[in-house]
Amino acid sequence: MSPSACMHHQTQQQQQTHVGPFLERELTILSLLCTQVSNKRKSVEGFAAVEVDLLTTLTELLEKHVNLAVNVDLVAEASAVISKREMRMEQWLRPGSTGSERVAALKLGLEAAGILLFVVTSPGIDASVVSEDAIEAAFTLLRHNLAKNLIPALNNTGHRLAAQEMDEKKGLGASARKKKRRATDGGESNMLMKELRKVYKPIALMIPLQITLMSRIEDAIRTLFLDDQLILTLTSGALDALEIEAAQSTQNPANRLQHATIGLVTAVFAKFPAHRSSIIEDLFPLMLRLPSSKRTMRACLVQYSSCPSKHSSQSLMTSLYSSMLTNGQEPHYIQMITAMLLSLVQCCVVRPTFDVDNNDEQLLSGLRGCQSVAETFAIHMLQRCSRKGEDGGASEFRPILGNLVDDLLLVMMIPEYGAAQMVLFACTLGLSKDIITASRTSSASDTVVETTYANTAFDILGRICAAYAKILAFQRDRELHKTVEIVSEENRQLRCYCKRNNFTDALMVDCDNCHLWYHAQCVGLNRDALPHEWICDACSLQANMENEMETTSRSIVDTGFIINRVMEKHLKTNRGYRVASHCHLAKWVNELHSKSQQCQTTAEKESYKQAIGGILETWNKKRCYSNPKHWFTFEGGARALLTQTASYSNFMKSFNNLMGLMLKLMNDKAHASLRKLSIKAIEKVVEADSKLMLLPKVMEAVSERLSDEAISVREAAVSLVGNYVVKSPPIANAFHSHLIPRLLDPGVSVRKRTVKILQDILVSNPHYRGRSDACDKCLQRASDPKEDEGVREALHGLFMNLWLSDEGEAAIPAGLQPVSPSRNASSLAASKSPSSIEAQSVASGVVTPTPPMDARATRSKHREVGKRRSELAAEQMVATVKTAGTNEHLGNFLRELLCNVNDSDKGKKAAERLKRQKIAEKQCFSLVSALFELLLTTEERRGELGNAIGGELVATIRTIGCFSDVSAQSVLKHLSIILPYIKADNGLSVADESAVASAACDILFRVIPILNSNEIQNLCSGSLGGDLVKITYKFGSGALYSAIRALCTIAHFDETGEGSIFGKKLLNLATTFYAFLFKHANRDDYSNPGLKNNTLRLLSGLGSLCHHHEVAVEASTWNEEVDVDEVEEIDLFETSELNWNNVPIACFRLFMKYLEKSDIGIRCAALRALSGVFIAHPRLMLSCAQCGLIEALMSSESPLELQLTALTCWKEISVSEEKRIDSGEAKKKMDSKKNITTSKKISGDQDGDSTLVGGVLTKQTTRLFEMTQSKEANLRIASLELLGQLLRQGLVNPNEAVPYLLALQGDVENTVVRKFALRLLTVEGEKRPDMLRQRVCAGVKQACRFQRAVYPTKETSALVKKLKGARIHMECVFDDVFRECILSSRKQREGLYRNLLAMFERVEPVAKEPTSSAKKARSRRSSIQEPPDVGADLSLLSFAAQMLAYLPYSSAGDPLFIQHYVGSVVALQGPQLQDRLAAFLRPHGLASADELDEVNDGEDALERAARADAPSKSHDAVPCRSEKFDWFGFADLCKEASSLALLLRLKKFLRRKYNLSTQKCLEYTPDSKDKTFFRNFISRNDHMPLFDSSIVLVSNDLTDEDKDLLIHHYAVFRRHMRDEFSHDDADLEDSDDDGKGSRRNSIGGNTGMVAEAVGVPVPEPVPEPVPEPVHEDPPQGGLPPAEGEAAVVSAPELMQVEEAETTKKRRGSSASAAGGTKRRRSSKARGDVVPSSAVL
Ligand SMILES: [Zn+2]
Ligand SMILES: [Zn+2]
Repeated sequence: MSPSACMHHQTQQQQQTHVGPFLERELTILSLLCTQVSNKRKSVEGFAAVEVDLLTTLTELLEKHVNLAVNVDLVAEASAVISKREMRMEQWLRPGSTGSERVAALKLGLEAAGILLFVVTSPGIDASVVSEDAIEAAFTLLRHNLAKNLIPALNNTGHRLAAQEMDEKKGLGASARKKKRRATDGGESNMLMKELRKVYKPIALMIPLQITLMSRIEDAIRTLFLDDQLILTLTSGALDALEIEAAQSTQNPANRLQHATIGLVTAVFAKFPAHRSSIIEDLFPLMLRLPSSKRTMRACLVQYSSCPSKHSSQSLMTSLYSSMLTNGQEPHYIQMITAMLLSLVQCCVVRPTFDVDNNDEQLLSGLRGCQSVAETFAIHMLQRCSRKGEDGGASEFRPILGNLVDDLLLVMMIPEYGAAQMVLFACTLGLSKDIITASRTSSASDTVVETTYANTAFDILGRICAAYAKILAFQRDRELHKTVEIVSEENRQLRCYCKRNNFTDALMVDCDNCHLWYHAQCVGLNRDALPHEWICDACSLQANMENEMETTSRSIVDTGFIINRVMEKHLKTNRGYRVASHCHLAKWVNELHSKSQQCQTTAEKESYKQAIGGILETWNKKRCYSNPKHWFTFEGGARALLTQTASYSNFMKSFNNLMGLMLKLMNDKAHASLRKLSIKAIEKVVEADSKLMLLPKVMEAVSERLSDEAISVREAAVSLVGNYVVKSPPIANAFHSHLIPRLLDPGVSVRKRTVKILQDILVSNPHYRGRSDACDKCLQRASDPKEDEGVREALHGLFMNLWLSDEGEAAIPAGLQPVSPSRNASSLAASKSPSSIEAQSVASGVVTPTPPMDARATRSKHREVGKRRSELAAEQMVATVKTAGTNEHLGNFLRELLCNVNDSDKGKKAAERLKRQKIAEKQCFSLVSALFELLLTTEERRGELGNAIGGELVATIRTIGCFSDVSAQSVLKHLSIILPYIKADNGLSVADESAVASAACDILFRVIPILNSNEIQNLCSGSLGGDLVKITYKFGSGALYSAIRALCTIAHFDETGEGSIFGKKLLNLATTFYAFLFKHANRDDYSNPGLKNNTLRLLSGLGSLCHHHEVAVEASTWNEEVDVDEVEEIDLFETSELNWNNVPIACFRLFMKYLEKSDIGIRCAALRALSGVFIAHPRLMLSCAQCGLIEALMSSESPLELQLTALTCWKEISVSEEKRIDSGEAKKKMDSKKNITTSKKISGDQDGDSTLVGGVLTKQTTRLFEMTQSKEANLRIASLELLGQLLRQGLVNPNEAVPYLLALQGDVENTVVRKFALRLLTVEGEKRPDMLRQRVCAGVKQACRFQRAVYPTKETSALVKKLKGARIHMECVFDDVFRECILSSRKQREGLYRNLLAMFERVEPVAKEPTSSAKKARSRRSSIQEPPDVGADLSLLSFAAQMLAYLPYSSAGDPLFIQHYVGSVVALQGPQLQDRLAAFLRPHGLASADELDEVNDGEDALERAARADAPSKSHDAVPCRSEKFDWFGFADLCKEASSLALLLRLKKFLRRKYNLSTQKCLEYTPDSKDKTFFRNFISRNDHMPLFDSSIVLVSNDLTDEDKDLLIHHYAVFRRHMRDEFSHDDADLEDSDDDGKGSRRNSIGGNTGMVAEAVGVPVPEPVPEPVPEPVHEDPPQGGLPPAEGEAAVVSAPELMQVEEAETTKKRRGSSASAAGGTKRRRSSKARGDVVPSSAVL
């Protein structure tokens, strides 16, 4: 049937009223016809053949159908029917019923619209046959059907629409409806939903019609001239189709509908550049409505048919992205919106042209349009992501951007989506720009880039960069075969991509050209379809290249060129990739052009131009300029794709820029957050390609961050490094030196992570170069008592795992090199899984001539592994001890691990520790065996090691020594190996020999107590005694001590005693030593160095002997002993009188004699020797204390060295006493001693003796405290060490000690002292936080005094400068204490502020008071003596104010509290003081005559005077110069005024530093339960000028300069008071303050008063804030003024301070009655003020 015949037939039909003039059948035939015509458009004439009139009639009829259908609103109509309950849906839809008629009308309308548009777009048709209205109606029908029918039906949302509509009809708001619906008609809604589903079915069936209509409209848009408005409405309406939750199948109608939509919108986009921006903007609101559930979000299947080898490309993407992208798992899907976006960008491609204006030199890229679209989109997108508010908000757009980027990364290599790269580059650029902006803005001021946005940006950039890195890594590792090497056919060689190099029985193919072999499977061939001829990729490439060179210049044809050419052909020969192929070509042309730009010769340029010309010539043609001959193989295609992507210049540029940006931001000085984020981003990148970590640039940047100032950054860096050091030994070595310091990091999390990393390294690589250093540092950390419990656990875990674990295999890494080949080789071979050895030998057919397996090799595998582990551990331990140079760290650690289970540990942890301990104990035996084995090995290697053997032996024996300490039993059976070393003839250097002997003696000392008498007997028969004695003659003090100790221990062993060989040796030794010293006892000339040396040695030896020589001495004898007045009276024993029992007494007398020598070295040695006697006989020490010896030694009159020695000795005595009690040694010894009678046991109670020592030392605490404040730094340290020991034992009242320790925080020059004191404070602070806080005021005073005494030439200041980056940063000296002890508790913090501020408070306004002397007396009794220099107490206030200004507050609540408190103090005292000042000045005419006037409503005369150069001489200050003017009275008032002014400045300073608004300050009350003040992170203004802590400090004789100063302070006070009481109603503070600040500066400039103008980054020392001339006064007047003199001037100040002191003390202890009342009054006063000021 021809079209015209059909027309005739239809016009005759009777018109139908409801569904239109045509019958369904007729329309179906018509549209079928259309399809046929369109399929053979060229051969069939189609509608052009039909008469115009007839056609017009047809179109008019069709238009009727369309118009009818436009009004069909199936979902709404059906829901109306349902809700009116007229009939069931089945009925409504039954043929003949209304519903079915409506369905038919819609269907026919759609069909008619399709036909209409087909007609109008048919070639040769007169445009007038179709009215514009008809076309518009067809467009409208498309939108309408989509919005009213398809979307509700497909998304199943009809019931919601219906409900909405009903609400509107009823005039109900949506919210009211919602409530109602939920309450009542849920059932109804469900029913509606269910019924509506029946209507959805016929609607869904109409999707194909809709799709046809869409494609016809697409044609119409291409061919017809249409109204702009019509098109825009159409596209925005059509876009809604993407809202549909389509299934992922490409067969799904909804899915197809969406693809059709993409086609339609793209057609519009391509044709109307003017509409592009509005279409792009339409995308954004749409994005918020897209399906978001995981299942339906991504519905667009990624087809790989545009890739050279479809399947291998797909699997390439899978292996690239499956772990990286959310949609990386096969099958791959992207979002429809992404597909839409890419289609839109791509369709803008045009044919590149040469710029004619520019002499054809410049190429106009074909991608300009695409790029501008991509950029516009990226800008819009990022704007929406960065800003809050607006449509949807940033928080909704950020995940959308993330999803989009995932999609783009997935498809960026696929030619079909060539635009993906462009969009990615545009986004990358935009994000990078935003991040750079963020890094440029200063931290405090602007918030241009939000932190959350920065997070998103870094996250996305990191992802992109990581994906790029992975592509590059893949390209590096899986390169396309490019070079051809021809081999002969017989010589079978495998060169498959899979890199397996053995032939298998799988199907193999060989290249017909080069005859290299491939696995068929690897190159995509299967048995059923083997080609006749097969060429490998390298050969194809070469063949193509040769072919190409026929048409293109040789110089420019390279692999990339050929790949592009093959790609071109592939895209051109496949249908549907017209746009994609244009994109590909445009990109290629760009690349070629940019290459040509770099060419030097014109000939080369010309050949590029030719090649470009060739490409452009065939731009729209199916054929290529030169047809490539061969395809790539299955595998080669994917590799070619990789090569092409990775070599694309923009891609590399983008990657390099990204890496550069991140590395640069890792060094961003101002923003820790950016540094951290960039580390996180780099972490992602390195995860994708770990080789990047080895780039020097990356390594450098990362290692720098390991010592970043911010904990979070360091932690991030450590975790980044941690991921890689384990995998790669070179990285581990490179980072070692940076990683180790992190063990001392202040951040607990950083330390923990570092330990974990070191553990990983050490376990996986036991021969790691830095192992012993790492182990040693870890041991030190583990035995540091201040280490965090969690970190300690981690450290214990590390060593347990490394050295003491008994479980084998898991941690044993493969391929270890044994250290000693001779000894370990056999065990190593055996431990290498035997089965593999067997297998190998079978395979090779060679029987290894193994000697009969020795016992070791036949042991079970498990045992072997355990054995090897302990050998390894032994090696590591010895190496560690060797590196450390001491076994102290290892010893401490082992002791803690094995002996120190705290009873206080509860529950699981303790149980775990116990379990661990058990395991460790068990391991000790095998470890010790391994150590001895190692010792023997070392001996065997003597020749090989040469001189180095000494160090090895020392370290090994020392390591064994550690075990003898914790588990003597384990060493016992090897004792015979140790004994020879005591002979000290090992052929080592003297130093090594001595160390070996000393270590061996120590082992002996530990083992002796567990020997039995037989074994002792054996020892007696050997040369041991003689050896020990020899050591004492031969070596220095260390070995001497060890030998004597060992000898004493063995001599005092149970049954031996005096009579045994060792006893005799001991007594002989003592006699020898004694004889020498006795002989020279009366000599006092030690100019002979030999003699002196000998004397020193023997004193030390005899001292140690006394220490360990355990004979009992009746306590009463000691009293007689010390009862000697003069040295001359000491009656020395003759050498011959010396016997076993009188050694202590004889030595004591001898030492006393030596103690009085004039040579200081000898005296110290004597004192040390004496302390040996003291340790053995504590009662002697008591007696000595009673006769004043101890005090005399410590007194300031005794020489410094002696004082130092005394302190160290006392500490030693105290420590060893403590140890003796703790270990129960004292008790054990006592029980075992048979020669002590029961009565002696009771009287000489040894436990009691330890308290004797304590008691003796406690008596000396006053002097000890004095010593902590000594000018001598050494003495300060030594006294602190003793103090620490006494504090630990509870022998010193911490209340008294704390102020001194706090004072040492002011020891700004000596960091050792500061740190030491801080450690002690922290310990105390943990025990008694209240006490610490209460003593802070006393500490502040003491600190002030300390600084003045120890650093008399320096200003006292509570501040220290710290360099933070390039900025100087002021820190309070108490910062560390504050952080460690006080910061964590709000109660403690506020208590501290109160205590400090109380120093400023004056309870009584009038100073002189009868009780003041009594009070003074009381304060004298306090531990800290009030100094005579009273003027200094004002500088105390300055000190306290500095402290309050700079403490490291962590929440806004703290500064708020302080400013509030200041407010109330000032509110109470300020007005009173003003009145008193006015009353004082009134007689002189300097204040208003009327008492009732407001005293401070403006500048007064003296303030004006203050602005003059010399205020006291100025015109305004004339009255002051009168005789009657009481300058001293004025000075007192001014001092008070200046302290209040100081407070007011503090308040202002805090407000500005912590950005506290007036509003916030007013809202704040200290009692408020509002936690927000404390939870808020504090914002700190780091660019504050230095706090001005100046205060009136005038000399006693009041010079003119002093008078100027007084007037100045008076003026400052008045001004601040005016500010304080005026600014409350308006927030003029800042501008106000700035103005005045500058004025103040000008004053300060004149008087040298204020040093506020400190620039921000100051490289040089910051000028001190305190006035120079004034403060220099006291030193000028010689030493601190005499007591009486000072008291005259500053009685009120003294009062004030005393007041504070007593108040605080009362708070600490129980209040005395008199003080109590005062205290109550002051607190009452404060109580009154608080609410009133809060109201203000
Ligand atoms: Zn293979
Ligand atoms: Zn080949």
